[in-house]
Amino acid sequence: MRKKFGFFVLSILLGISAMAAQVADSVDVLDYDIALDLSQGTPFQGDATLTVQLLRPCASIALQLVGTVDSLEVAGVRQAVPDLSHIPTAGISVGQPFTIRVWYTGRSNVEAGGWGGFHFDYNMHYNLGVGFDLDPHVTGRSVFPCRDNFHDKATYTLRMRTRAGWTAECGGMLQSRTVAADGTEHSVWRIAQPTPTYLVSVSQAAWKRVHDTVASVHGDYPLSVGYLFGSDNSVRNAFAQLDSVVPMFERCFGPYRWGRIGYIATHKGSMESVNNIALDETFSISMSEQAQSTIAHELGHAWFGNLITCAEEGDMWINEGGASFCSEVAKEAVHGRDASNNYYERNLEAVLRTTYVTDGGYRSLSNMPHNYTYGSTTYDKGWMVWHSLRGYLGDSLFYASMRNLMASCAFGNLDAMQLRDSLAAYSGVNLDDFFDFHVFGAGFVNYHVDALMGAGGCDPHLVNITIGQQGVGTADIMPSVRVPVTFFSHELDTVKRWFEAPWSIVDEVFSLPFAPAFCILDYDRELSDAATLAEAHLQEGSASQEMSVAHIKVRADHAAHVYAEHHWGSPWGTMPYGVLSTAKRYWVLNGLWEEGSAVQGSFHYVRTGYNNSTYANLDRGFYHRAALRDSLALLYRPFHEENWKVLPHTLEGNANEGYLVADSLMPGEYTLAIVDTHILGVVHPVFGKKEMNLFPNPLGRGQELVVEVDTDMPFTLSIYDESGRMVWQKEGCVSGQPQRPSLRKGVYWVKIENKHISLQSKLIRS
Ligand SMILES: [Zn+2]
Repeated sequence: MRKKFGFFVLSILLGISAMAAQVADSVDVLDYDIALDLSQGTPFQGDATLTVQLLRPCASIALQLVGTVDSLEVAGVRQAVPDLSHIPTAGISVGQPFTIRVWYTGRSNVEAGGWGGFHFDYNMHYNLGVGFDLDPHVTGRSVFPCRDNFHDKATYTLRMRTRAGWTAECGGMLQSRTVAADGTEHSVWRIAQPTPTYLVSVSQAAWKRVHDTVASVHGDYPLSVGYLFGSDNSVRNAFAQLDSVVPMFERCFGPYRWGRIGYIATHKGSMESVNNIALDETFSISMSEQAQSTIAHELGHAWFGNLITCAEEGDMWINEGGASFCSEVAKEAVHGRDASNNYYERNLEAVLRTTYVTDGGYRSLSNMPHNYTYGSTTYDKGWMVWHSLRGYLGDSLFYASMRNLMASCAFGNLDAMQLRDSLAAYSGVNLDDFFDFHVFGAGFVNYHVDALMGAGGCDPHLVNITIGQQGVGTADIMPSVRVPVTFFSHELDTVKRWFEAPWSIVDEVFSLPFAPAFCILDYDRELSDAATLAEAHLQEGSASQEMSVAHIKVRADHAAHVYAEHHWGSPWGTMPYGVLSTAKRYWVLNGLWEEGSAVQGSFHYVRTGYNNSTYANLDRGFYHRAALRDSLALLYRPFHEENWKVLPHTLEGNANEGYLVADSLMPGEYTLAIVDTHILGVVHPVFGKKEMNLFPNPLGRGQELVVEVDTDMPFTLSIYDESGRMVWQKEGCVSGQPQRPSLRKGVYWVKIENKHISLQSKLIRS
């Protein structure tokens, strides 16, 4: 499921889950036969017959229901006191099926946060079977009397009577639909697959419907979408992706087991109910990435959550992380691997930057506390770990292991250990270290690769590689290594090598088919390590290119290929005297560009607590209120063994968010620091929020200078020499217009000014 709004209301952890689990072991519900009369809206009349069996002898059992019990029958015997918390079962044999029939009055009921429960809105009535604020989170009991937990799976018959003129859409396969003389509709639905209570859904409205068929690998599936808002065409467009997505899911995870695919567009949020997915109504007519990914996420639950269900809510990442991983797989099916990698990389960036903040610390996926069951760690880091399992095992082994798991555990429950053991047994790959670190442990691993091309000898094909690790949000590191490194030739040909070691570091000398220029760890984004990667291929004269997942912008005056790794771990090594603190992140820049060609790099910073930024928390705990922007410094070292030193930079942006701009980048490592400005560095502030770009810079003899700035208004362009003396000025300039200032070789400051802006930037006349 996905909440409509992206923040979670936290509830207080109540100590009753253990008790619920204990009671659950005493009884197993096999089948529910439920008649609901919704013709009058709320309150409504219900008549439920449960076929159950005892799993151990007990004198009484309990059922959960939001509503009033009118009458109760046990094994055909009417009970004088219709109390669902004490249903007498003394004398009934263990394993002998018997019936409990409950006549009841139900009503509108929605959790405090306004999400899970049974909604009776003015134009649609529908239930959402999970409550963020409920304990337990499941809420089948909003609609019918049940054993309400994640693991008691049963079959269902739903017999619906609707309000006159309205029609029903429910979970299961439609058995019959007739309209009575009074205008009420009578329909019967059957869920023949074992299903937990929270996935059972009912609804009624004056539904408009789109009907289609999705042709897939293991069969053709009827598709229906019930909606009120939007047009037939817009709904069809939004769901067109299923023609590629369903076959992809079946190839990856095995057959779709639920007979038909159904969605209803509701007012609140999205929920993966069997055959009858509730979808936020704005998503049912939208091609936005969020809408398309939610349609795929909820369908992904048909495998992750609905077919194999977490045994306890503490392993919700199996359901929710798995379904979010399905959104990535769907993106790959529709748009290809580059697009899905990009989608994944943006999520990884957000997870590394914010999840530990929103979830109150770095948390392990498994054994998640109740009030963080549906937090970002479960969804977003959970997705990362599924993605990483795919990379760790490789596509063919991972998907074969997943199809085996989906078949062998179909309609069952499992916890993280059972998941690990199933995948390991089938693939033959030991997953103990992987699960210990990524699932049972908190935090991330940051790998750092050092490669000596030529290995210090005379064979240029030889490489001496060292791979080290650093824990992020944890004191642990991976006890063994299994990572891919891609080597680039001087022509940008690539070759990938996997490095494996039963201990935590790699130190190897080996030979490549070409003389490598540089290498990048996990270039194909197969691991969810604590680094985000972007690349820019710049042409002469191309505009500044933003690599937002790597928090850097680059531009160049000649063709350049820049690969930026943004590591979400602290830089290490010797810092210059005067450095007060360093950022908890650093960059590694690689690539190919001409010697002497100027590649300009702009390094992103965001002040702690500045939450208007798209990238809030980027410098949390490093650059905060007390720090002056002028004390920010850019540090550089060409490689590991060197000491860090301060690079000259200019500033762009404002005190809350902006860039430290360095004019001539070299390959190597970069980080930010807060320095004592009396000891280190000179900073040239740029006023105003807008950016100004000078091109080319350095400016050659006889070349025209182009000033680009984001304004339509004319401005005055002034050029000052290093001593502050104005050497050239022109009024009425506009952005992009070539200028011919006559300048001698040297360093200058270009200033532009009008009523709205005042910007300055350094220019080198070479
Ligand atoms: Zn979900």
